[in-house]
Amino acid sequence: MKNKIVAGNWKMNKTFPEAEELLVAIAEGLDEMELETDVVICPPFPYLEMAADISEESNFTVGAQNVSSEEKGAYTGEVSAAMLKSAGADLCIIGHSERRKYFKESDEELAKKTDLLLANDIVPIFCVGETLEERENGTHVETIRRQLRNALFHLDKEDISKVIVAYEPVWAIGTGKTATPAQAQEIHAMIRQTIEEKYGTETAYNMYILYGGSCNPQNALELFCCPDVDGGLIGGASLNADDFIAIVNAAETCQKND
Ligand code: PEP
Repeated sequence: MKNKIVAGNWKMNKTFPEAEELLVAIAEGLDEMELETDVVICPPFPYLEMAADISEESNFTVGAQNVSSEEKGAYTGEVSAAMLKSAGADLCIIGHSERRKYFKESDEELAKKTDLLLANDIVPIFCVGETLEERENGTHVETIRRQLRNALFHLDKEDISKVIVAYEPVWAIGTGKTATPAQAQEIHAMIRQTIEEKYGTETAYNMYILYGGSCNPQNALELFCCPDVDGGLIGGASLNADDFIAIVNAAETCQKND
């Protein structure tokens, strides 16, 4: 049986001292647990090294929220995959809907980011998800399949096996509207089937598919206990240590009852 994964996406929140306080509080909460869940914290770039230092004495790993699609050089303001790795990031979120929307990230750019992360031994947490309009007009499945195909399907079996997929319906992110467990399960099963068609049953079975979108201590248990939901990518609720730990606890409960 696979361990669940719970990853916190802090987005553009917290000053340095606030970030330190939150990291220490999360570390203390995790230290009290006999943890089977893999916990990941994705703070803003400037806090990666501090998070990595704290993680050495605790039970979480550190991820970034974005990476440049260029390897290095004259790209002012960009942060490369090699830099992330050297600052202590072992994972990196890419293709988040906020980046697709506000920074116009394309599937082609995301394919490049995926390759650079893998080349630097960083696990991509690749986000897919439909807008409300796409769900309402029935094109949501095709949108998600296209996102997977265009950014990931050039990878061979070995490399795709290293990728984590996060299903994040855009209409559920930061809105307080969560997908129902049935909606999440349906899309997760479809994602797994799409992977299976291209890479076979074993690769599809082993792939991690996380749910993200207004996940909180009240709804996490039901979502995480769906058979194709391997954990969660948590935004708002990851900014509060008690809420985040409660969500990790929900993952633990599903795992132990499985
Ligand atoms: C996210 O942005 O990845 C996310 C899931 O946000 P929230 O939990 O706040 O909806």
